[in-house]
Amino acid sequence: MKICVLPGDGIGPEIVGQAVRVLEALRQDGIKLEMETALLGGCAVDAAGDPYPEATRKLARAADAVLLGAVGGPQYDVLPREQRPERGLLGIRKDLGLFANLRPALLYPELANASSLKPEVVAGLDILIVRELTGDIYFGEPRGIAVRNGEKVGVNTMIYAESEIRRIARVALEAARKRGRKLCSVDKMNVLECTQLWRDVVTDEAKQYPDVELSHMLVDNAAMQLVRNPKQFDVMVTGNMFGDILSDEASMLTGSIGMLPSASLDEKGKGLYEPIHGSAPDIAGKGVANPLATILSTAMMLRYTFNQETAAARIEAAVKKVLQQGLRTGDIFEPGMRQVGTKEMGDAVIAAL
Ligand code: NAD
Repeated sequence: MKICVLPGDGIGPEIVGQAVRVLEALRQDGIKLEMETALLGGCAVDAAGDPYPEATRKLARAADAVLLGAVGGPQYDVLPREQRPERGLLGIRKDLGLFANLRPALLYPELANASSLKPEVVAGLDILIVRELTGDIYFGEPRGIAVRNGEKVGVNTMIYAESEIRRIARVALEAARKRGRKLCSVDKMNVLECTQLWRDVVTDEAKQYPDVELSHMLVDNAAMQLVRNPKQFDVMVTGNMFGDILSDEASMLTGSIGMLPSASLDEKGKGLYEPIHGSAPDIAGKGVANPLATILSTAMMLRYTFNQETAAARIEAAVKKVLQQGLRTGDIFEPGMRQVGTKEMGDAVIAAL
């Protein structure tokens, strides 16, 4: 298992450092993995003048999986667009053909007070949102702002090919198989023909997975159900734009941005794994960032790219245990708990492993 490690900017090196220690602990238990580190984002601009340098491209292409911290920082906001750290992120996603974004929204019962919803609504929440990442209205042509009949019009095109829908449906159905075997596909078929096709193709593909219970929901209802009764969902699958909105909504149900991992996969299961949060420049270098989202990203890597379910579950159980022990970084701290820094949290997870 070859892993390309990209710490990135801000708190990236601190949190990735702890995730790498967790992987090294697993290696001592006989899991065979190799890690090599490279530059992405602002640090790559500083060192090589390019947010996604050739050396990083080579390493990322040759690896089976990529572990990323986060990129960006205020010092880079003045650079020309092609040199911005975000370009590095978009560049690597495109280069590796990552079309499936998996975002779990999992709320540990110990952190139920962090949510803005009532604890009984969210305690034990465990949803996986599968978002298509390379199609839809974000990329469809024609697009632009033009002048028609003497006034400006803005145009974007919602478009999905059957093959694009089928491959994301397959990822979601496979993921549902590894979880609660329930899949809810989200569309707007009452208004948009494009999503009528979406519903038809997902329904057809699901015939190959009789063990997964498929349902469909209109996106407006899905947005409402996510705050009304989010625990009804297991896996949700949807297009790029609806997924963009619903995955942010779902992650915020948990209230703890420092806890949530994500995966972006290609057709063969190669993936880029990263926390959903950014580089947190306000706390960078202080040793206080929460490393758990990045550590949980390694669990997703072991599950989705390497099919190492036991190792993945061990990491998740270790995280659960440190929370039960009352350890908290500043972002999830509550009175009565023990506040720890980034490294101490990493130490505790490794001890719990
Ligand atoms: P952010 O997620 O970095 O930070 C938002 C808030 O959450 C901050 O107060 C931060 O301190 C806190 N926070 C985030 N992660 C935390 C952690 N692990 N532990 C404790 N607290 C944590 O979002 P932002 O401030 O909007 O963006 C900062 C920079 O990150 C920007 O340059 C932005 O472009 C970049 N960014 C990168 C990614 C990515 O690399 N995928 C994603 C989002 C933002």
